[in-house]
Amino acid sequence: MSSVNATIVADPAASCDTDLAKGPWNFDLAPGYGPGASEYDVIPDPTVRPGQLPVEYQRASEEDLHRRISAAKKALGSKLVILGHFYQRDEVVQYADFVGDSFQLANAALTMPEAETIVFCGVHFMAETADILAREGQKVILPNLAAGCSMADMADIDSVTACWEDLEALYGTEPDADGKVPVIPVTYMNSSAALKAFCGEHGGIVCTSSNAATVLEWAFERGQRVLFFPDQHLGRNTAKAMGISVDDMPMWNPRKPLGGNSGDDLLSAKVLLWHGFCSVHKRFNVAQIEKARIDFPGVRVIVHPECPMPVVDAADEAGSTDYIRKAIEAAPPGATFAIGTEVNMVNRLQAEHPEHTIFCLDPVVCPCSTMYRIHPGYLAWTLEGLVNGEVHNQIIVEPRIAEHAKVALERMLAALPKPIAKGDPHD
Ligand code: SF4
Repeated sequence: MSSVNATIVADPAASCDTDLAKGPWNFDLAPGYGPGASEYDVIPDPTVRPGQLPVEYQRASEEDLHRRISAAKKALGSKLVILGHFYQRDEVVQYADFVGDSFQLANAALTMPEAETIVFCGVHFMAETADILAREGQKVILPNLAAGCSMADMADIDSVTACWEDLEALYGTEPDADGKVPVIPVTYMNSSAALKAFCGEHGGIVCTSSNAATVLEWAFERGQRVLFFPDQHLGRNTAKAMGISVDDMPMWNPRKPLGGNSGDDLLSAKVLLWHGFCSVHKRFNVAQIEKARIDFPGVRVIVHPECPMPVVDAADEAGSTDYIRKAIEAAPPGATFAIGTEVNMVNRLQAEHPEHTIFCLDPVVCPCSTMYRIHPGYLAWTLEGLVNGEVHNQIIVEPRIAEHAKVALERMLAALPKPIAKGDPHD
């Protein structure tokens, strides 16, 4: 009973959302393609909508699903690769060939050219990125189309395009005497393919939480300022660590004229931060860190840079999921860590490192609720479909969008001081 799923099912009130205790088919009933999708994605035909998972999979026991998933995986062999994000629940991650962050996983799939199908147990933008980077003929499947990312949804292509038009009207489009253009768009990996394509088309770039500082340096070599979306916290924390004053980082609220700013504020801005955030990382606060320090003197507090700035300031360190994992691996036995990131990953780190004490700063069980929608029932359904020659929930990024998005991703790769690490093989 150590998994997050078991905890939530046993006591829904212990979690941040009691709906998590229900099967996803109980509340994903509205027809639609699911959150976090690029509006330019090609909608699969036929599309089984969220909530329409065949009843036999909804009612199957845990043991039955385990038997069926294992059998299908074995039958598909090397034609299949299953990717599991760090934040995915253990009931699903146990079947993953690779476990990692979104970009590590997209790269991991490239190391399996014989795989005809990539089943991505993450959220929508991750499957889109895998499809953009996949080799010709490889299919990418998202087991539940309702598995989106609430942060990715906070910046859509229409709002960003409208913002860009306002900025062009204010700043003009001509480079200054140093050859720097007025503004460079930077999108976090956690965004739709359409926004990555926007960056590709407008001289911009993609970043991850691992390389955001390197990417901002790249942008400032080419532009006078940066428009950073969708996560305000990653943008603010990264720019602040680079020495940029928070006064020079106005927020852009897409619902307000000029994003809620004066023209003067925008003219002096260095980084324009989009009004987006991660609902999981937003829950961490300074009081949790203070309590951890009282309860565990000497505790090492590491938080993800998607946390609000006061939390990052109060922590000992801030870093990506990969940074957190490596810091724990490198510590001498007997260390105590308080971690500010998604609870599935924190619990897994504790299980993998019994020599340390590792706990989540948030006392309430709050998984990434959208990623949690990849229930083993959906995985069994997609895998058995493949065995029977049926492809369910394929994610296809429209070729024009994929082409431009790839440009922005390739700029990120070229900007890196060292190659991106491959996803960790998972046994
Ligand atoms: S943890 Fe937050 S940013 Fe990551 S996929 Fe979930 S909602 Fe999106």
